[in-house]
Amino acid sequence: MGRTEKDADKTGRLRRELLAWYAVSQRDLPWRQSQDPYAVWVSEIMLQQTRVAVVVERYQAFMARFPTLVALALAPEQEVLALWSGLGYYRRARMLHKAAQFVANQHQGNLPATAAELRLLPGIGAYTSAAIASIAFGERVAVVDGNVERVLCRLEGWEAAGKAGGAVLARKIQGLADELVDPERPGDFNQALMELGATVCLPRSPQCLVCPIEADCRTKGEHKVASRPKMLSREVAHALTVRTGHLPGQAHREVLLDQRPPEGTVMPGLWELPTLKEPQVPEEDLRMTVRHAIMQVNYYVRIRTVFEDDVEDLTVAAGVRRWVPLGEAGSMALTGLARKVLNRAKLLAAPPLDTLTSGRR
Ligand code: SF4
Repeated sequence: MGRTEKDADKTGRLRRELLAWYAVSQRDLPWRQSQDPYAVWVSEIMLQQTRVAVVVERYQAFMARFPTLVALALAPEQEVLALWSGLGYYRRARMLHKAAQFVANQHQGNLPATAAELRLLPGIGAYTSAAIASIAFGERVAVVDGNVERVLCRLEGWEAAGKAGGAVLARKIQGLADELVDPERPGDFNQALMELGATVCLPRSPQCLVCPIEADCRTKGEHKVASRPKMLSREVAHALTVRTGHLPGQAHREVLLDQRPPEGTVMPGLWELPTLKEPQVPEEDLRMTVRHAIMQVNYYVRIRTVFEDDVEDLTVAAGVRRWVPLGEAGSMALTGLARKVLNRAKLLAAPPLDTLTSGRR
């Protein structure tokens, strides 16, 4: 099978998985009940720089008072600003009002139907024009916001660029988004990708185990982002090895843990996952990637599932190594990283004991 065919398969699968997930998992938000271009426009402007919970509250009052574009155009500016109260960034309200008056005068009250024409209106940029055109008019244009950027970077294994490479990365992301957007349902696809970023592929703790596109994702966890000025970046890898053990009368699962040297200076005596000899993990063996910050260092930690028989060959020998029943692991003095990984893999029965390892690896 040629590369092009393989890529087309992946794109088709990704669209199907994402749209199916969105159909059952999308949040019930008031603006999703309407495809009226005016309603989509108002919600998209409100959602810029404002939390969804605040928008839900203000959107309904705003739409009740200004149910149509013409009603908004005819209202005095002070009233529009009053209804915008709580949303902040009042310039958005002024621009929205101005654009509504322009559309009422120049377009008989009908919003233009393409992203290119929408961009000519005051206050409507690349993101908003693509959102309105795809959601309300079904135009095949991709929407790229911060959530989409993050999901696509992780999907492809791209590192977020610093200032210098930002424009190149932005073009790559836009190119991929254009390629992926579903030609039949562009509005739903765009919303699904944004929803995935907002609810599953979260910046700090992505929920990869319930992610509909996990099988095609090259990162499966946090991706490398440009470090803050003084932050350093390190790459390490650990083994996640689980087996079935036998206590008298019952089978249970155990995880392999190493104890850090009790006489050492860094996290003495804490338990961690065995360290892999090689920090690079083949893509097919990658279980997840975790970003873990300690002091001035961002650790990008690759976790590989290792079979019991391979542990000796693949990991660095430890002083004390123990098979620990999963039911017991949660109450041990784990490093913060080990706890994070076991939690994310849904292997810890006990709730996190942050007090034991707070702020430490
Ligand atoms: S698998 Fe994880 S990192 Fe990849 S897209 Fe899904 S939630 Fe994001």
